[in-house]
Amino acid sequence: MATIQFLGAAETVTGSKYLLDVGGTRALIDCGLFQGLKHLRLRNWDPLPIAPSSIHWVLLTHAHIDHTGYLPRLVRDGFRGPVYSTSATADLLKIMLPDSGKLQEEDAEYANRKGFSKHKPALPLYTEQDANSALKQVRGFKYGDDVQLNKFISARFISAGHILGSSFVEVTVSERQSAPIRILFSGDIGRYNEPILNDPSSVDEADYLLVESTYGNRVHDHTDPKVRLAEIVNSTAERGGKIIIPAFAVGRTQLLVYYLRELEDEGRIPVLPVVVDSPMAAEATRLYARHHEDHDFDVERIEKLNRNPLATRNFSLVQGRAGSRALNEQKGPMVIISASGMATGGRVLHHLAHWLPDPASTVIFVGYQAEGTRGRRLQNGEKEIKIHGEMVPVNAHVESLGSLSAHADSEELLRWLAGFKRPPKNTFIVHGEPDSANALRQKIVEKFGWNATIPVYQQNVTLE
Ligand SMILES: [Zn+2]
Repeated sequence: MATIQFLGAAETVTGSKYLLDVGGTRALIDCGLFQGLKHLRLRNWDPLPIAPSSIHWVLLTHAHIDHTGYLPRLVRDGFRGPVYSTSATADLLKIMLPDSGKLQEEDAEYANRKGFSKHKPALPLYTEQDANSALKQVRGFKYGDDVQLNKFISARFISAGHILGSSFVEVTVSERQSAPIRILFSGDIGRYNEPILNDPSSVDEADYLLVESTYGNRVHDHTDPKVRLAEIVNSTAERGGKIIIPAFAVGRTQLLVYYLRELEDEGRIPVLPVVVDSPMAAEATRLYARHHEDHDFDVERIEKLNRNPLATRNFSLVQGRAGSRALNEQKGPMVIISASGMATGGRVLHHLAHWLPDPASTVIFVGYQAEGTRGRRLQNGEKEIKIHGEMVPVNAHVESLGSLSAHADSEELLRWLAGFKRPPKNTFIVHGEPDSANALRQKIVEKFGWNATIPVYQQNVTLE
């Protein structure tokens, strides 16, 4: 008998973790960190309902921390099995997990310095060293490889077009007495017709489907994102302000640089200094050259043109903290792209603290801003925001470019679902706040007449 327990990303967008139990053999699909609202973040500290040592495998859909950032803790708490992902995801984890460990250590150190934690001393959820030991268990596969977990369970990674290395995870359970069951975990689903990344692959069938619903109730602005980006860059440059773009180091950062470069080449924006202030983004960009399987731009052709599509004309990457701080002193308009994408931590906080009070400057959000994050508060128009314990007045312009999102919107989700040739026995709507999940559920029921349910945190369902 097989069951799935929803240990995260149920009625919320973070903490993705689904426990598949087949007669006592256990696979955890995704191993994400909860982020955003405090009651969610506190779940990172709750023990899992089962011992990590009783899990046999972890399978990862993609490298984003809300899908992988709990892995070092799982290993520290006793998980000893292999972790399977695509090879690009495995490469990305080498930079992302240690960075996440470092952030956890910095957070704990900060809490101790300010004395605001009730734990004395406050401890990190895991350390950089924990992250490095977890990496030893990670193994990368090609898309489409048949990954045999044991005699009865196999898995396959299918390209999802969301970030480099992103995949749907298809698990097939063939138990002796019963017909095989195929379960598809969508992870995060990408966009159609976007430069750089391939479109999400179409999938024919699954007995059970877990589908993300981040934008289940919204349609992105489908006008060319370059038009609005050019307007914002031009008006901010005229005011002499800074353009601060909080962005995930992997994916959006590269896409933004690609669009800025095109706008420069087309003479639609002035050539401004563009700074990517994130050591991780620099390494991630190098990985694009290594993993051709994931993107559809012709690297060789572009190399012959002597033009790097992932750099602008006046482009720099900042590595050290000193270089990051020095940006505050620079005069004149400039574009600063820095993580984290939801302004929950990382170097972008220093830039926001410095430039949010400046009415000439603009902050552009390009990704989903989860409830409870600084990003969501700024999008909601809050006039003051707390950064590093201090209230910072918000005088800068705040813009959101939904058209640059890495997530399919509701129409794109339905387009992807329409590829199924037969209805799944059940479709579980995950990875969405309640309004989005509900909206997608309704659309699936109306359009396809499928069974669709929205699981709650820790719910257990039996697959037959
Ligand atoms: Zn993602």
